[in-house]
Amino acid sequence: MTKLSRRVLEMEESVTLAASARAMALKAEGRDILSLTLGEPDFVTPENIQDAALSSIKNGKASFYTAASGLPELKDAISTYMENFYGYAVPRNQVVVATGAKFILYAAFATLIDPGDEVIIPTPCWVSYVDQVKMLDGVPVTFQTTEENDFKATVAQLEAARTDKTKLILLNSPSNPTGMIYSRDELEAIGNWALEHDILILADDIYGRLVYNGNEFTAISSLSEALRKQTIVVNGVSKTYAMTGWRVGFAVAEPEIIAGIAKIVSQTTSNLTAVSQYAAIEALTGDQSSIEIMRQAFEERLNTIYPLLAEVPGFEVIKPQGAFYLFPNVKKAMAMKGFTDVTDFTNAILEEAQVALVTGAGFGAPNNIRLSYASDMETLKEAVRRIKAFMEK
Ligand code: PMP
Ligand code: GLU
Repeated sequence: MTKLSRRVLEMEESVTLAASARAMALKAEGRDILSLTLGEPDFVTPENIQDAALSSIKNGKASFYTAASGLPELKDAISTYMENFYGYAVPRNQVVVATGAKFILYAAFATLIDPGDEVIIPTPCWVSYVDQVKMLDGVPVTFQTTEENDFKATVAQLEAARTDKTKLILLNSPSNPTGMIYSRDELEAIGNWALEHDILILADDIYGRLVYNGNEFTAISSLSEALRKQTIVVNGVSKTYAMTGWRVGFAVAEPEIIAGIAKIVSQTTSNLTAVSQYAAIEALTGDQSSIEIMRQAFEERLNTIYPLLAEVPGFEVIKPQGAFYLFPNVKKAMAMKGFTDVTDFTNAILEEAQVALVTGAGFGAPNNIRLSYASDMETLKEAVRRIKAFMEK
């Protein structure tokens, strides 16, 4: 008899983390691999944030447990952030902090889903949503968005996916992996539909500050009082502040939902590491100038790499509006090289071009491949040059 639970046996490892680990292992063997796998800023955490963390260690504040749901000062900092970027402040009982937006998502699903409850997740979508819902015996209901609609779900598609078991929908804008942003009108239509059917909205806004070339992010929770109440905002500092390693995520929602998430945090991880909380306070309330410098660097990389990638034979790519991924359709490229499976194609690029990318399969996109441009310009240019040479061979 197997010792492992059905839960674990049926689960997939995160394909993004697996692809990155594989690239690192090959590099450690001495292979000249360029890795464009992980969605992780290549910048070091800004110095003011480092200093705040160091002083919390030195003055002894970081030595102790904090409230499981997070430091009151951090909740206040998040409220200020919400006021600045969402247009509304929140009391402390509407904020919870935990170990990365990834765990916040898991705890939010655990708070809201009973076995058999359905969560509508438009695809392509980030790799962890579907497995997290499954881990909790929820039912992920996915459907393909179209490239013609910039990979965005329509109300008609959502309505077709709705049943009397639908509990919530997942919205991720700007999207990982597509980089697309829902417009205010689109969000209003989706919001009205959700309100009409009393379906909760889980809004993963983690890339909301990483938008380029004049594109703007609109938060669905900021559209009306009713939508604010209907939405669980998930956000964090990983991407905007170059703080992936610190593992800071937060949720903003109605007090009852926040109390549920906090209960799960209190019985699983306890508080998010205290030093990370002090760092996050400085990130959210301190000098913001490095944020714009990093955003501009991503924008410049996108504007340089996008046209180069579009020239690769068989690669068809829509220009993303935010986040830091390119998500070309490689159906023609696969046919040119005799592949039918995008994971095999991704592996061939790794073996022959020595460039590590992430297969679209994990995002529910069998014809796409993901390239993260959160890497320095030279690496990006060389990686695209290698991919092009591979396709031309
Ligand atoms: N949501 C999306 C869409 C992401 O791409 C990521 C990537 N890490 C996360 C949530 C989780 O972020 P973190 O756990 O680093 O806060
Ligand atoms: N979210 C990033 C990515 O998609 C980091 C890895 C992960 O958490 O999936 O690459």
